Amino acid sequence: MTMDKKSSERLAAGGREVGYLEGTAIVLGVCYGQCMILAGDDALMNVTIEKVNDIEAEKRRFAEAVENVRNQLKNATKEVQDVLAETDEGIFDMYESLLDDPSLHEKVNSFLDESMSLPSALCMAARSFQSSFQHIQDTYIRERILDVKDVLIRLMDDVRNAEPADDQEAIDSTMPVVLVARELFPSQFLSAPLRRVCGIICETGGATSHAAILARALRIPMMVNLHDIQNIVSAHDKVLVDCRAGLCFPRPSARLIKQYQLALNISRRSRQAPLGVLQAQVDDHPATMDGTALQLRGNITLFSELPAMHSVGIREIGLYRTEFMFLIRNSIPDEDTQYRVLKRLVDGADGAPIVIRALDIGGDKSLPYIQWGSELNPSLGWRGLRFLLTNPEIAHTHLRAILRNCVNSNVRLMFPMISDMSDIISIKALVKEAKDSLAAEGVPYGSPKIGMMVELPSAVLALESLLPEVDFVSIGTNDLVQYFFAVDRGNSRVTKWFQQCHPLVFKILHFICTTVAKFPGKDLEICGELAGNISALPALIGAGLRTFSMNPASIPNVRDYIRKLRLDDCEELYQRVSEANTAEQAQQILDDFAESMR
Ligand code: PEP
Ligand code: MG
Repeated sequence: MTMDKKSSERLAAGGREVGYLEGTAIVLGVCYGQCMILAGDDALMNVTIEKVNDIEAEKRRFAEAVENVRNQLKNATKEVQDVLAETDEGIFDMYESLLDDPSLHEKVNSFLDESMSLPSALCMAARSFQSSFQHIQDTYIRERILDVKDVLIRLMDDVRNAEPADDQEAIDSTMPVVLVARELFPSQFLSAPLRRVCGIICETGGATSHAAILARALRIPMMVNLHDIQNIVSAHDKVLVDCRAGLCFPRPSARLIKQYQLALNISRRSRQAPLGVLQAQVDDHPATMDGTALQLRGNITLFSELPAMHSVGIREIGLYRTEFMFLIRNSIPDEDTQYRVLKRLVDGADGAPIVIRALDIGGDKSLPYIQWGSELNPSLGWRGLRFLLTNPEIAHTHLRAILRNCVNSNVRLMFPMISDMSDIISIKALVKEAKDSLAAEGVPYGSPKIGMMVELPSAVLALESLLPEVDFVSIGTNDLVQYFFAVDRGNSRVTKWFQQCHPLVFKILHFICTTVAKFPGKDLEICGELAGNISALPALIGAGLRTFSMNPASIPNVRDYIRKLRLDDCEELYQRVSEANTAEQAQQILDDFAESMR
C-alpha cells in the first residue's frame, strides 16, 4: 500500500478527509458501498472490559441485538438461497435456536448485571463458555462451543455495525455492502448478506485463495493488501473501490463518486447481467492455426455459474468443488442432502461430462462447525484427502452421495491432495466400501472413472507408478505452486514468491505431460487458475497441455487466442521460457510473445 504520509495519517485517524489506499485487485470491477466489518474470533475474545452506569439501557441493546441477528438470519437464508443453489431451507436454524437458548441469555445478563457494557458482557460470556466447555467429555457437545461463539460474534458484529460514530453518516440499510476483513474466509463470506455485497476489501489474501475463487464466481470485485484497513474504516463508512486501478477511497467525496458514476453503473450492470443462455452453440474444441485441437472445460465453484459456462459454449465441467455445500451449512450435510445438491448439478449438466472433486476441506476452508484445533500450518495439515481418510464416516456418506449420482450420468470422481500410492489405495478402498454398502442395501449407484489431482510435488514424482491406478489426472496449479515453492497461496506478504509463471513451473508441467503421454487413454487436464492465464497459454500448449479447465469468464479470450497460435511457435516459446532463470525473465518472454501476436 502506498499513499502520501499526510493522507495516511488522516485516514488512520478516522478523519473525514479524502485520501486513497493502493491495494492489489484480485477480482476486477468498481464498487461503492457501506463498510461491514467482519471482526472474527479475536474481536470477540479480546475486548477491553468496560463498566457502564445504565444497566437497563445495555439490557435493551442486548435484546435489540438478538432481534437484529434473528432478522439478519432470516434474510440471509433467503439471500443465500437466491444466490446459491447449493443451499436449502433451514441452513441457519441452529443459530436461531442458540439465540433463544436460556443459558446464553442468563450468562450475558449476569455480566450486564455487574454493570458491564454489552461488548464486555459478550466477551466475558464467550470466555466463560469457552472454559466450561473445555472440560466436557462428549466431543460433540464440546464442539458446540464454536456454534455458541459464532452466535456471540454475530451479536458483537451487530453491536459494532449498529453504532455509527458521531461523525458518521446515517446507516442506510438498503445500500450495497463492502465486506472488510483482515483475511476473508469462505465460511464468513458465505454467511454475509450476499445479495447486498458489492465488494470485498482485505488486509491480506491471494488471487488463488478460495475466498477469491468464490468472489470471482459471484462476480464481486475484491481487493487485498490494504494494510490495517479494519482500523482505517469503521462500520457504515462509505468506501469506493476501484479494482481496475487498484485504488480504495475510504469516505469518498461527492465529487469523486460523481466522477466514478459511469464506471460504477457499468460494473453493476455487468454483475446483474443474466449469466447466459443455456442453448449457446457448443464450441469447446478450438484448434490452433495449424490444426492442433484443444479442449476447454469449465471450473464450477457454484451452480450459479453453470448458465455462464453454457453461454460461452462450454458443456463439460472439468472441476466441480464440492466444499461450498459444506461451508454454507452448520453441520455436515447428510447423505440425502448431498445427493440432492449434486443431483441439481448433474441435471443441469444435461448429460455432459462432469468431474466432481471429493471434499477438499481444510487449509483456508476449515469447516466452522468442526473443531479444527490450532494448526501451525493449516495448508500442510488436516486438509483434502487427509481429512477424508481420517474421517472415514464423513468420507463414506460423501462417496455414497456421489456414487448415487453416477447412475445414467457422465460423472467422474476426482480426489484432491493425493501424495503417493498409499493415498490412492486407501481412498479406493473407501470407494469400494461405499459401493458395497449401496449394493447391500439395493440402492442404485454407478462406477465412475476415478481421477487424481496432481497438486503435490510428491505426486509429480510418483506419477508414473500412480497412473495405472487412475483413469485421469488433473493438474491443480494453485496448490502445486503453493507446495512446490512452499509459499502460502493466500498470504499477500509472500505473493512475490507465488510465481505461477516461473520457468520451473513450466518444466514441471512438461514433465507431467510427458509422463502421462506414456499411458495412452489417460486423460490429462489442467484446472488451476493458470489454465485461464492468457499470457501463459502458448507456453502451456508448448509444454504439452491440451485440455484446459477454467473459470467460465476466461473462456472467450482463451478460445480466441488459441485460434491465432501455431503449435511450433508454442513449443519454441516453451523452450525459451523453461530455460529462463527467473520468473521475471519468463514473464518478459511471454509478454514479448503476446506483443508479437497483436
Ligand atoms: C488447485 O489447487 O489448483 C485447484 C484447482 O484446486 P483448489 O484451488 O480448489 O485448491
Ligand atoms: Mg487444490
